[in-house]
Amino acid sequence: MQAQAREKMNDNAVLKQLMTMVQDYYGSRRDGKFLEYKSPLELAQILHLDKSTEPGDWHEIFRWLEKYLAYSIKSDHPFFVNRMWSGANLPSIVGEIITAVSNTSACTYESAPVSTLMEKYMIDQMLDLVGFTDGEGQMTTGSSNANMIAMMAARNTSISSAKHSGLFGQQQLFAFVGGNAHYSMDKAANITGIGIDHLIKVPHGIRGEMEMDDLKRAMDQVLADGGVPFFVAATAGTTVRGSYDSIEQLLELRDRYHFWLHVDGAWGGAVVVSEKLRKRYLNGLEHADSFTCDFHKMFGSSLMCNILLINRGNQLFDRVLAAGDGSYLFRDEHDSEVDDLGAVSLQCGRRVDSLKWFLDWKFFGREGFCRRIEGYLELCEYAEKLVDGSEVLEMVAPRTSFNVCFRFKFAEEEVNNFNLAIRTRLYQQGTCLVGIAYIESDLCMRLLVTDPAAAREDIYAFFQSLIETGRIIQQEWER
Ligand SMILES: *Cc1c(COP(=O)(O)O)cnc(C)c1O
Repeated sequence: MQAQAREKMNDNAVLKQLMTMVQDYYGSRRDGKFLEYKSPLELAQILHLDKSTEPGDWHEIFRWLEKYLAYSIKSDHPFFVNRMWSGANLPSIVGEIITAVSNTSACTYESAPVSTLMEKYMIDQMLDLVGFTDGEGQMTTGSSNANMIAMMAARNTSISSAKHSGLFGQQQLFAFVGGNAHYSMDKAANITGIGIDHLIKVPHGIRGEMEMDDLKRAMDQVLADGGVPFFVAATAGTTVRGSYDSIEQLLELRDRYHFWLHVDGAWGGAVVVSEKLRKRYLNGLEHADSFTCDFHKMFGSSLMCNILLINRGNQLFDRVLAAGDGSYLFRDEHDSEVDDLGAVSLQCGRRVDSLKWFLDWKFFGREGFCRRIEGYLELCEYAEKLVDGSEVLEMVAPRTSFNVCFRFKFAEEEVNNFNLAIRTRLYQQGTCLVGIAYIESDLCMRLLVTDPAAAREDIYAFFQSLIETGRIIQQEWER
């Protein structure tokens, strides 16, 4: 009865209300608390997910949308420093909205003509930027999948019959990553049939970079046992410490061992836009076999947005990846001019991720992104100085790039629990969310700057509120 009494909303009214809601949210996304924290039980009561609705009741739909925004984290808030992404660039948000209203799959030119050309344009831009002269690429669902596709391409290149006959009865393949590599490598080893035990984690030095002597020893051992070292992934910016494995040294080893060299630049690959930082962190990248970078991290495109580039000739994807029924989806009408991107993708339906990235690229330009990334590094240097200059804070590992791993000083036996308590209090108060990680057995807070609007004042204020909360908890604990 009640629902009937309400006026029905037509599509225009819905869209108008939506845009107002979007505007209000966007205007206040950096204000107040970053989160109105509720426990899962409290939140479940508020959301009332099993409430029944009358069909067509937009008012209820909007109530849920209001609650969604009210109780979600504001990822663009200056004190949301928890993750490798934060609030997205406005051009990419605009692109996402257009992507949503025009809903299509970027698998064929037929179903996605504009996005196909945009994706190819961006792939060419990135191949150029990275310096892959013999390359091709595809947008994937993220670096986890890009890492897996790279491993699969390497596997099928190493054992060319693997695509059709699998790995049965073959020489055993071994992949190598640094001990700090991303966990997606384990998943990739599992999915590609290499096996997690065949993913060798190479020890790292004090700065977190893979030790070449250890890598060499491990490869010699594999060879002595009759195995094949087929794949090495350099991490360009590890998740916790932000370490960069030396691409140059790995290239030297590749000459000798002939593996596929992949560079996982999900996080730190963004420095490719800065000549200065590229020289410092990615020297030799143009000679690697593959490279992935997440645009949804430092570049600030909205989630998900990734590219995988391969430097092994432009039919490689076709040879190692393409499979399946070409009868209903992929046909040849446009073939002479443009290939369907879906044919070499692991997905069938592909979300249009190219529009937002294209718009961001055109709006900010390489120069704009270069300034942004270099600016982030300066803010991280500033953050490190604040930690070093503070009486109560200390660095847990030396900063090598963008990641600032620090903690509040406390008695040895309790220092981990104490820092965990600070972090939880800050989160539940809605003050800030900072990442945590373990370095060896030491818990550290990991400050990441991925917000284009971030300024020194924000970093300063972040540490102030953290120190303030730390001191309060310190008093409570010492009582
Ligand atoms: C974030 C990250 C990944 C995973 O990327 P997704 O896009 O989240 O799948 C892989 N490797 C590194 C080094 C990362 O930082």
